[in-house]
Order: sequence, then C-alpha cells, then structure tokens
Amino acid sequence: MRFKGLTVDRAMVLYAHPDDAEFGMAGTVAKWARAGVEMTYVLVTNGASGSQDPKMTRKRLAAVRKAEQDKAAKILGVKRVEYLGYEDGYLYPTLEVRRDVARVVRRYRPDVLFSMDPTFRVGGGYVNHPDHIAAAEVALRTINPDASTRQMFPELWRRERLEPHKPKALMLAAFNEAADTVVDITATMDLKLRALRAHASQVSGEFEGFVREWARRSARRTSYRYAESYQLIKLEEPPGVPPRRTRARS
Ligand SMILES: [Zn+2]
Repeated sequence: MRFKGLTVDRAMVLYAHPDDAEFGMAGTVAKWARAGVEMTYVLVTNGASGSQDPKMTRKRLAAVRKAEQDKAAKILGVKRVEYLGYEDGYLYPTLEVRRDVARVVRRYRPDVLFSMDPTFRVGGGYVNHPDHIAAAEVALRTINPDASTRQMFPELWRRERLEPHKPKALMLAAFNEAADTVVDITATMDLKLRALRAHASQVSGEFEGFVREWARRSARRTSYRYAESYQLIKLEEPPGVPPRRTRARS
C-alpha cells in the first residue's frame, strides 16, 4: 500500500493498555489491514488496573482483558498481538521494556510504527495516564537508538539473530495542533465501534456518541465524515547506512 509517498507492507501499533489502540487508531488499523498491510499490535501492560469493582482481582482482570483484546484485534484484521505483560499502572520506560520492544520491532520489521504522543500530559479536561506517556516514550527510544542501532542490546543480534531495523515513519495519535495527517475512516468507523465494544469490561453504553464526536472533530477540516488524526514523522535512514539510491526510471 502507498501512504504519503511511502510503501507500507507492515505496520505496528505500540500502546499501553488493552483498548488504547482501538480508541486511538482502530479506524486506520482496519483500513490498512483491508488494504493488505500486515498489522501487529504490541500491548505493553496487562490491563490489570482497569476496574473499580471491589470484587475484581488483578489476575482475573488481566485474563478478561487479554480475551477482549484478542477479540478486538480479530474484528479489525490485526494479524497478531504481542503481549509484553508489564503491570498496568506501574510502567516506566526502563531498559527492560525498551529491549522487549526493540525485540518485536526487529522481529516484525514494521514500515510504520504507531504510538501516542509522549509530550501530551494535560489538556481537554484530562490528565494523561503515565503508562501512555511511558509507552510512547519507548516508541521514540526504539526508533533511536534501540531497534535501529546494532550495538544497542547486542544480544538481540548476537544471540537471537535479530538485525537492526528502523521504520520509515512514526505516526503519533494527535488531537491538537500537532496533528498534520488525517486518515479518512468513514468506511471503517463501524468496525472501530465493534472492536471497542469487544472491550466489554471497559466501555459503557455512552461511549459510541463521544467516539463518533472525536472522529467528526478529527475530520472537521476535510470532506470526510469520520477521521483519525496523527502527527506523521518520516524518518531518515539509520546512521552508518548509505542512503538507498533510487534509480531514475526512463
Ligand atoms: Zn489507556
């Protein structure tokens, strides 16, 4: 598939909690999967903090949320979900998390990496969850240097034979002035809502209205009915690799 001058065969979404990817990017994920892009989800935490029910336990909730995430991914056409299993609410961008993420990035070699914006902390009546910030921070660090640099985590290529990899672009979900790229999700809006409904432990009857409203707001400067908006960062080749020559066609 072609997107903004890039050839995209594989894409990856790196996110903190089950349902984050659905709220932020599911319309784009479903659209790209339909277009033949191999989609991989990398879910960093286990979702075990997401309940106010006093009878719920972390262990039981983690199992419920994994099943919900599997179901949502299937609805959207996501090929695989990698569960890194860190504790929900306790996440820091540690070297351990960074190595685990670099490993899956090197293994599945996405052309585009989706994540959130690690600089977003407060706004719109909302205090951003620290796990969202931490996961997004890891996304930046995997671009430079973790996944792309041979001598970072050398065990990944020495022992596991995972060569360095740098995606062609990073797409950060953006709802503010930072948004420079709008994806038309009118045709996949219903799939996005279905995938969100799969997170039955998290969504109540009211969610559909505000999800539609966000998607209308993202589309407001376009002719689309529904959209998701991003900050698109096209990335240079990794240092030390000579730039690929594109031969002019006659
Ligand atoms: Zn979340």
